[in-house]
Amino acid sequence: MDDAPGGETTPVVSAVDVTRTYTRGDTGMFGRGSAPSVQALDGVSMSIQPGEVVGIEGPSGSGKSTLLHLLAALDIPTSGTVSLAGTATDQYSGRERTKLRLEYVGIVFQRFHLLPSLTARSNVALPLVEAGWSKSARRDRATELLSDVGLDTRTTHRPGELSGGEQQRVAIARALATEPALVIADEPTGELDSQASTRVLELLRRITDEDRAVVLASHDPQAIEACDRVVRLHDGQVRERTAPQ
Ligand code: ADP
Repeated sequence: MDDAPGGETTPVVSAVDVTRTYTRGDTGMFGRGSAPSVQALDGVSMSIQPGEVVGIEGPSGSGKSTLLHLLAALDIPTSGTVSLAGTATDQYSGRERTKLRLEYVGIVFQRFHLLPSLTARSNVALPLVEAGWSKSARRDRATELLSDVGLDTRTTHRPGELSGGEQQRVAIARALATEPALVIADEPTGELDSQASTRVLELLRRITDEDRAVVLASHDPQAIEACDRVVRLHDGQVRERTAPQ
């Protein structure tokens, strides 16, 4: 990561006074809106450095997924600024944001989101198709990533032939394919038993050794415990922050 002027490290991602309001019922055939808008985030600020694993915790509806979407540049704030690798995400067109995301962000979902008809290796290689890699380079990279996550004997298995923990490791390998600076994980252990969760959390910890940052949202105490620090949300606001350990 480049150094910012003044010698400080540029955060992998930062949010400054971010608000996200979902407006409902204010377009289309129903004319003037009657449904109230929802303020999912209200004045959230945070800054995430390379090498950190940061947990986002909070009750259902507190704004965790909305925040992850903004940090991943899947969405832009209603007000305030999210900067990814030093770039404000709202400065770009949708297409440019997709490119920014491809370069900088890997996303791991709770339910893995693997394509059932493809082998583990083809699932991991998918982001590299979009990134324009050749077929043989994709195959080599996906094989290497699956070996890194301890699945070298499962490369030709399809998701249905893998355990939940193995599928989640395939999903993490896929998220790492383009060497993103930021890995965003939404409830990465939500579907896993404790032993599989431990492996997945160890893996997320290990990938920050390469100066990546991981942001994970979770209800799972084991996942939250594994973070360097935790930001607690309540009703779209930061309620509490733990200090780095
Ligand atoms: P969490 O991930 O903590 O459960 P969310 O970020 O999903 O919270 O939701 C925060 C609030 O925003 C909730 O009140 C939710 O109902 C609302 N919300 C989320 N997505 C939308 C949407 N697309 N349209 C309208 N309201 C939404």
